Amino acid sequence: MNREWDLLHTPGPTPVPPSVERAMNQPMIGHRGQKCKDLLKEIAPRLKPLFGTSEDVLILSGSGTSALEAAVVNATRPGDEVIVVVAGAFGDRFAKICETYELKVHRIEVEWGEAVDVERVESTLQAFENTKAVFLTHCETSTGVIHPVEEIALRVKEISQALVVVDGVSSIGGVEINMDRSGIDFVVTGSQKAMMLPPGLAFAAVSKYGWEVVEQNDRPRFYLDLRSYRNRLGEGQTPFTPPLSLLFGLSEVLNLLDEEGLKNVYHRHQLMKGMTREAFKALNLPLLVSEEAASATVTSVKPNTFQAEDLRKMAREEFGLILAGGQKHMKGQVFRVGHMGYCRSSQVLQYIGILEIILKRLGHDFTSGAGVAAAQEAYLEIIKEVQEC
Ligand SMILES: *Cc1c(COP(=O)(O)O)cnc(C)c1O
Repeated sequence: MNREWDLLHTPGPTPVPPSVERAMNQPMIGHRGQKCKDLLKEIAPRLKPLFGTSEDVLILSGSGTSALEAAVVNATRPGDEVIVVVAGAFGDRFAKICETYELKVHRIEVEWGEAVDVERVESTLQAFENTKAVFLTHCETSTGVIHPVEEIALRVKEISQALVVVDGVSSIGGVEINMDRSGIDFVVTGSQKAMMLPPGLAFAAVSKYGWEVVEQNDRPRFYLDLRSYRNRLGEGQTPFTPPLSLLFGLSEVLNLLDEEGLKNVYHRHQLMKGMTREAFKALNLPLLVSEEAASATVTSVKPNTFQAEDLRKMAREEFGLILAGGQKHMKGQVFRVGHMGYCRSSQVLQYIGILEIILKRLGHDFTSGAGVAAAQEAYLEIIKEVQEC
């Protein structure tokens, strides 16, 4: 099948809007010239609302993990004690980065599919009084859970001096976060999820307190030294050559977000989440995550009457509908639908309609049309709520 027909619904990479594709397709410029300075000066302040901060948002070249690693090397020194919430593959990655950089890691292991309790973070912090930082994942993409990171940050700040570091790779641009209000010290993200760009850019925002720690930190670091990104940003520069085409695209992404309004962007993600979950319930598909813990950007299903991998294969081969499978021990047990970034309710109706055909083929028991009808109902309900508030 023509790959330009693919319906990409993985939780990253995600589709890129046509106007962003066009914006990226521009002649190359010099990264030390005035054009690049103008571009970075235009982009940088417009990123701040996405992080809910008045601090600089730094632009790194690399995938999301480069920003996770940047947070670790800039915030900590070898031997530091840290707490990492591990509720899925990405919490596990954060813990592994911390271990690689010789930190003493206390993992809070949470059942995959569940959100961490604020109380558990609090009691762990009380048990390890020397904790220098708490690492959290905002949306745990491997399960589709959104963790209450703002609430956790507020609690951590009440009882300790520990830094709060948040992986927002699959949430920033789709779910609201406010660093300044909650006291979160680091939020990092990447370009290929809710930010509507191809992979290759990463972002990091650091609080005032976070900067004090970063400035005093004598751990050796070079490419990921956030001090150099901050110093150069003042001049409208990055320390090393940035992926300029992605910066052209980013400028257009920010135009699109401005046009729609961030509040509406977040509502759109809530709408897609609500439609998707209601449809799956009506189709007798077990959702992995409870209503309160479910992320607006990705939904996981744990089927019990067929193999998740069979559904994924049929969706891909017959309709070009690309869904994600499970990660680590959930491999083969779940399928995951990404609904973030350049995605809207009309696409939810499309993938639910397709999945109904495949579920029939798989012999799964449900009433034809029930999924689409539930998604339509949810649309009407949620749109009404949004208009009323
Ligand atoms: C995708 C993702 C990452 C890492 O992404 P890469 O860009 O592949 O390095 C990290 N954390 C979360 C929560 C993610 O969803």
